[in-house]
Amino acid sequence: MAAPLARFCGKLGKRVARPWALSARALQQGASRPGAEPSLEASGAAHPPLQSFTEEESMMRETVKKFAQERIAPLVSKMDENSAMDEAVIKDLFDQGLMGIEIDPQYGGTGASFFSSILVIEELAKVDPSVAVLCDIQNTLINTLFVKLGTEAQKECYLPRLSTEMVGSFCLSEAESGSDAFSLKTRAEKHKDYYIINGSKMWISNAEYAGVFLVMANVDPSAGYRGITCFIVDRDTEGLHIGRKENKLGLRASSTCPLNFDNVKVPESNILGKAGQGYKYAIGMLNEGRIGIAAQMVGLAQGCFDQTIPYVQQRVQFGKRIFDFQGMQHQISHVATQLEAARLLTYNAARLKEAGKPFIKEACMAKYFAAEVATLTTSKCIEWMGGVGFTKDYPIEKFYRDCKIGTIYEGTTNIQLTTISKFIDQEYNG
Ligand SMILES: Cc1cc2nc3c(=O)[nH]c(=O)nc-3n(C[C@H](O)[C@H](O)[C@H](O)COP(=O)(O)OP(=O)(O)OC[C@H]3O[C@@H](n4cnc5c(N)ncnc54)[C@H](O)[C@@H]3O)c2cc1C
Repeated sequence: MAAPLARFCGKLGKRVARPWALSARALQQGASRPGAEPSLEASGAAHPPLQSFTEEESMMRETVKKFAQERIAPLVSKMDENSAMDEAVIKDLFDQGLMGIEIDPQYGGTGASFFSSILVIEELAKVDPSVAVLCDIQNTLINTLFVKLGTEAQKECYLPRLSTEMVGSFCLSEAESGSDAFSLKTRAEKHKDYYIINGSKMWISNAEYAGVFLVMANVDPSAGYRGITCFIVDRDTEGLHIGRKENKLGLRASSTCPLNFDNVKVPESNILGKAGQGYKYAIGMLNEGRIGIAAQMVGLAQGCFDQTIPYVQQRVQFGKRIFDFQGMQHQISHVATQLEAARLLTYNAARLKEAGKPFIKEACMAKYFAAEVATLTTSKCIEWMGGVGFTKDYPIEKFYRDCKIGTIYEGTTNIQLTTISKFIDQEYNG
């Protein structure tokens, strides 16, 4: 089984960092090393690692790839069929250090970079996009909000658990506020040193197994969106009801539930950040988070492509491999190029974000484009496989169903395009 990331990432926390130990193993498995020519076998023929990866990023990618193949792949079809995440997968994600990638080792996290999170999400999505979104929301939304905004007491209380055992959910959307998220109706009324929350949320990912919910509620409706505040709500808080999960087209192993808040009492100390600043936090997190969704779509498309090409190389019609027909080759090359472009847009946005440079337009472009490419790739892969691509004997139809969400959550495609156009308008002094 793959080694936990915490053993080679970051500074020494409770765990012992032994970079050399994993390094040797990873190199045996073919991770890139300075000066070495990446062999096709070592790198995966489909997409050799970019030379711009650090050694730590390359090792992490290889480790997660191995982990996903060994521990997740055998369960994917059953989880999809049962619409349920296997608990062993969630435990494994924690044990591997994949649920606290950027959390400092002093709080039990892995202490790796944002870019590493993006690579992890991509690798997981190649095998199961539902597992990828669990890891994505935890790392790019929940953990980041606690790390950036938490008081020391909040960090000490939640970060060690988020790194090792507790799933978190991000609760913004409501039945009547989706794209227009800040028209949300959930209210939090102040009383002495506590708040009472009433209202409901919809579409909350991972709610079935989350231990903590970050809930956007309005403390001052007269101030409009400037009343929106982020509250930490524990799962066992009285009055919080988690509804029945949605029966979805795709991403079926990822639970998506409505929540109801019926006089939920939370202490004032459960406000994350400042009262009235929730809209800023939500915008900021979603700007970063959509790079994660772009990575999920890139991974999904690559995973689908990787499963399809060997089939078209082996399948014979009219006396030759179907891969050898020029009509097929041109389509395959077109999709491979689109996929590489989506990956580069995604990596570029992640690098810009990590470097502290403006990245919002690039993140929107990456998310928009990667979702389009995932749609194209999965659709084409079914066509290239012919009848068997349309059956559940191969994982292609699942990728096709799973990809649709990329155009919807963390800002629909239209919303990405609207944001991109605002930047263009500004750049040309409109
Ligand atoms: C599987 C799943 C998981 C989710 N997970 C979470 C979660 O964990 N937390 C959370 O808070 N939310 C979550 N969501 C909610 C998701 O973010 C919303 O569904 C999304 O923002 C779209 O909102 P809506 O569904 O209300 O669609 P609407 O906003 O009603 O949009 C419908 C259509 O109208 C278009 N449209 C709307 N406004 C405009 C406009 N101004 N210009 C042009 N077109 C427009 C949209 O692009 C879309 O095509 C999840 C949703 C799903 C399906």
